[in-house]
Amino acid sequence: MKKLSLIIPCYNESAPLRDTYIEVKRVLELQQIKEDYTHEIIFVNDGSKDDTLEIIEGLSFRDESVKYISFSRNFGKEAAMLAGLEHSTGDMSIIIDADLQHPPHLIIDMLNFYEQGFDQVIAKRSRKGENFFRKWVTRFYYRLINKLIDVELVDGIGDFRLLSRKAINSLLSLSEYNRFSKGLFSWIGFEKKVIEYENQERVAGESKWGFGSLLNYAIDGMTSFNSKPLRLLIYLGLLITFLNVIYISITFINILIFGIDMPGYFTIISSILLLGGIQLIAIGVLGEYVGRIFYEVKRRPHYIVSQTNISPESDKNINK
Ligand code: UDP
Ligand code: MG
Repeated sequence: MKKLSLIIPCYNESAPLRDTYIEVKRVLELQQIKEDYTHEIIFVNDGSKDDTLEIIEGLSFRDESVKYISFSRNFGKEAAMLAGLEHSTGDMSIIIDADLQHPPHLIIDMLNFYEQGFDQVIAKRSRKGENFFRKWVTRFYYRLINKLIDVELVDGIGDFRLLSRKAINSLLSLSEYNRFSKGLFSWIGFEKKVIEYENQERVAGESKWGFGSLLNYAIDGMTSFNSKPLRLLIYLGLLITFLNVIYISITFINILIFGIDMPGYFTIISSILLLGGIQLIAIGVLGEYVGRIFYEVKRRPHYIVSQTNISPESDKNINK
C-alpha cells in the first residue's frame, strides 16, 4: 500500500473547514482509492485568529489520519506548504486549499497520472467568472514575468498539485528563505502532467488576497529567481546615456553655430523628473536584491511551530 499525504494550509478558515474535511475524506474513502492507498491529512494552521485550530483539533480526536501543525503566528501560505511537505510521510503529497476552490475529486485523476509515472500532476484552473480587469492584468503579468525569469510560469496554475516523493525531496533541498513556490515547482523540473478544471467560487470565508498583496507577490516573482531585472537596468542606463550623448552633441553644435540661447526650463525640469523617477526605480530594484540577501544570510527558520500532534520521531523529514 502506498501512502498519500494531503496538505491543507489554513488561515482563518473556520467557516469552510469542516465541509472541506468531509469532501476530502469522502474522496479518500472511495473504494477505488482505499484499495491502494492509505492516507494522512495534514492541516497547517497558519496563525489563524478564529477557531480554525479548535476545529482541526476536534477532527484529529475523531480521525487518527488527521495531523496538524499550528504556527505561532501567520507566516504565509508558502511557509504553511513548506511545513506540510516537511512533515509529510507519504509516497506522494497533494497540496489543496482549505476553501474547496480546488475540487477534491481531482485527487482521483492525480493519482492515476502518478501511477503512469508523472512526478508532478498539476491542476490548472480556467479563469471563468473572474472580472475582465483581473484577467487582463494576469495575462500581462505572465507575459512579462516569463520574459524576466528562466523558469516557465503558466497562468491558472497554482499550488493545487500532486508531488511525488522525488519531487518533494527536491523541493525540500532548496533551502532559500524567500520561497516563491510557483517558480520553485517549475525549477525542480520532472515529468509534469497538467489537468484542467473549472474555476470554483470559495464556499465560505473570504480570500486573503487584496490588490496590494497581489502586487507584492508579482514583484516577488520577478525578483526572486535571477538577476535579470538588474541586467535590464544596465541596458536602460546605457540607452539613456546614449540618447543623452546625442542630445548633448546636438545642443553643443547649436551653441557653437548659433550662440548661447537659454530657454531651457522644460528640458531641465523634464529630464530631472524623468531621470529621478528612473533612478528611484533602479535603487528600488537594487534594494530588493540587497533585502533578499539580508533575509537569506540571517538564516531564520521559515516558521515557528506552537502546537502539533506529530511526534518528532515519526517524522522523517524534519530537522533536515
Ligand atoms: N493561506 C494560508 N496563509 C495565508 C493566506 C492563505 O495558509 O497567509 C491559505 C488559505 O487558508 C487557503 C489557501 O492558502 O487554504 C488559499 O488562500 P485564499 O483562498 O485566501 O487565496 P485565493 O484562493 O483567493 O487565491
Ligand atoms: Mg481560495
